[in-house]
Amino acid sequence: MSAGADGLRGHILISHTHWDHIQGIPFFAPLFVPGNEWDIYGPKGLGQSLREALAGQMQYTYFPVTLDQCGAKIRYHDLVEGTFDIDDIKVSTHYLNHPALTLGYRLEADGVTVVYCCDHEPHSRMLATGHGDITGQDLRHAEFVNRADLLIHDAQYTAEEYPAKVGWGHSSVEYVVNLGQYAEVKRVALTHHDPLRDDDAIDRLVANVRARLRENASSLDVFAAVEGQIVEVAPSPAKGSARRAGEFQAEMPIEPALAEWFVLLGIGDTKMAAFLSEAIRAEGIHAKFISDLVEARTLIAKDRPSLAIFEHDPPRIDGMEMCRAIRQQENDREHQLPVVMVAAQEDQARGAAAGVTDWLIKPFTDAYARTKIRAWALRTACQWMRGAIPEDEEQRLASLRALKILDTEPEDRFDRITRLASALFDAPIALVSLVDENRQWFKSCYGLNVKETSRDAAFCAHVVYNREPMIVPDTFLDKRFADNPLVINEPRIRFYAGCPLILDDGACIGTLCILGIRPRDLERSDLARLRDLADLAVQQIH
Ligand SMILES: [Zn+2]
Ligand SMILES: [Zn+2]
Repeated sequence: MSAGADGLRGHILISHTHWDHIQGIPFFAPLFVPGNEWDIYGPKGLGQSLREALAGQMQYTYFPVTLDQCGAKIRYHDLVEGTFDIDDIKVSTHYLNHPALTLGYRLEADGVTVVYCCDHEPHSRMLATGHGDITGQDLRHAEFVNRADLLIHDAQYTAEEYPAKVGWGHSSVEYVVNLGQYAEVKRVALTHHDPLRDDDAIDRLVANVRARLRENASSLDVFAAVEGQIVEVAPSPAKGSARRAGEFQAEMPIEPALAEWFVLLGIGDTKMAAFLSEAIRAEGIHAKFISDLVEARTLIAKDRPSLAIFEHDPPRIDGMEMCRAIRQQENDREHQLPVVMVAAQEDQARGAAAGVTDWLIKPFTDAYARTKIRAWALRTACQWMRGAIPEDEEQRLASLRALKILDTEPEDRFDRITRLASALFDAPIALVSLVDENRQWFKSCYGLNVKETSRDAAFCAHVVYNREPMIVPDTFLDKRFADNPLVINEPRIRFYAGCPLILDDGACIGTLCILGIRPRDLERSDLARLRDLADLAVQQIH
């Protein structure tokens, strides 16, 4: 802006919306200039989008200009774990351990890797005090920062200060230095400095760290990040730092339907059980209690919980034994049920052997427990892909609603089309599906006793986004749908083919689709006929 440039274009990646990380936004002048365009990325919360969280601090009570009055065009991106691209930069996201949903960012471009991890507390308390092995979730964290040219990491406390700050969601300098060495990082920028430390104290800290690294003949370069600092990062030749392949896109366009998910609770202590079920309920998720392994196994097989929390408190509840048995039952299934162990003490070795995913060490606060529950439930809920929201969503919904067709009675002229489609393609189910804001509603449903499903799970939402016919010959082999609730539960869809319903004004409002419970393919000529039927449906809609 000082150079007089206009039409600025930029991207802002936010770790989480705690105030120390977003208070600069209302004072960021480029957001107020018409013609500028900004993309803001941050973790998806529950019940509140990134936009809502940021707008909250700019209500008139606190600030004279609301977020919607900023002159620049701002796009918001609610993120979960995964990968996406910003121009030629590959961005990977990874959940951090903090009392708010928080993401770390790994950026890769031109052979250089920069990782930003603020705010984060190691899962193992031993690690924070500078001891112990990096295992489990801490190993995942190490993999995320692996071989970074520059790692910018939370290092608020020292190992000595840490015992008084357990559960506050921050790292110790000692842990970050060990992590940097373990993960073969080149340079580490310590940041999120404790506000009680002055510049001299930070300099002394860094001098001590460097002396220790020299003693160990380590090549790790450690410095303390300074306000306004510019760090140049040169590509390191010939290093195999290929990013982990993302299994799904990081952008999650719609609220996951967590209401349909639940947490399995095996807690012996009644006070603890009440405390945890209250925390779960506050996140809008259901809890189901189990008291023994048989119950746990039955519920896992039948209802697929998104998370299990067990207490290791024998003889009342033997959480370790339960976890071990569940892992045996799972065999090599790709998606393991996350199991969080509640215990007074962490037992890394036994936990790893039993397949424990994460720990809740007593005592812990409500906020700390809720973040863990939310993060793990979200991760399970995001294993299959939701259809993205089309660019013209507002217009599209306006066109759909202007038809006044939603929630009307079934009509024979539409039922004729689905009956024909079913007979023509020998498919047990055929639908005229209209994709509404949060649901897909069926104007006609042949072979199915349901009038609507959530948009999250809707195959048709993908067709509406792409505006192209879509054929899924076998849902089990398609990572977008293999774990979809309509695949793993009734009606257990194995085959899908759908054609978009596009109105004269260009709005794509839904699909004509056929579903099957066995894998199959569709001939080109068949697809053309399905398209013809879709055109007939559009005519009737008009
Ligand atoms: Zn924070
Ligand atoms: Zn912070």
